[in-house]
Amino acid sequence: MRQKFVAGNWKMNLTLPEAQALTSEIVQMLHDEQLGADKPQVVICPSFPLLSIVGRLLGEGGNVALGAQNCHQKESGAYTGEVSAKLLQSVGCQYVILGHSERRQYFHEDDELLSQKLKAALGAGLRPIFCVGESLETREAEDTFDFIAKQLKDGLFHLSNEEFDKVVIAYEPIWAIGTGKTATTQQAQEVHAFIREQIAGAYDAEAANNTAILYGGSCNAQNARELFSQPDVDGGLIGGASLKSRDFVTIVQSF
Ligand code: 13P
Repeated sequence: MRQKFVAGNWKMNLTLPEAQALTSEIVQMLHDEQLGADKPQVVICPSFPLLSIVGRLLGEGGNVALGAQNCHQKESGAYTGEVSAKLLQSVGCQYVILGHSERRQYFHEDDELLSQKLKAALGAGLRPIFCVGESLETREAEDTFDFIAKQLKDGLFHLSNEEFDKVVIAYEPIWAIGTGKTATTQQAQEVHAFIREQIAGAYDAEAANNTAILYGGSCNAQNARELFSQPDVDGGLIGGASLKSRDFVTIVQSF
């Protein structure tokens, strides 16, 4: 059975003391509380300056993995203000979110750039959490499936089979991010099943079956269980609700 995931994307939130407190609470709760048999891989993705300290609080060999929210496409060099995948790996990251709609929209990251970032992340031994998702306009124009197919084809399916094995996909409809307007379980399931079909076409049935596809967009402690019960929804990429320990741990327990 494929791996389930709950990944918290803290975005540009939390100061150092706040991050320390939240991490300690999450670690404590996950230690004390019962997780189902189908327990997910938990990943926490803080901003860059918090990575080392959060990683230390998560502990070596702990159950919670560390992820970053972005990386640069080059291995090193004169790129002031940027962070390489190699550096992320060296501070304990195992995952990196790539292609988030906020990066596509506000930082103009396109498929070509994301392809390079994917290669850089994989080259440094990081597992990418690659995001796709349509805007409200695209959904209303009934172009969702074509749009997602193109994001996958142009952004992701250039990877070799071996590289693709390392990828986690997140479906995050832009209209659901931070809006409180969650996709219905049916809307999520049909896009997830479609993504899986596209993987089968680009690679093979085994790759399609093994790839974890997470849902993101106003996923919270109340709706996670229903979303995660869908056959093609393998967990969640959580924004707002990952900033509250009780909510986040409840989501982790929602399988
Ligand atoms: P929200 O859970 O705040 O809607 O954010 C989702 C998201 O963008 C996670 O990457």
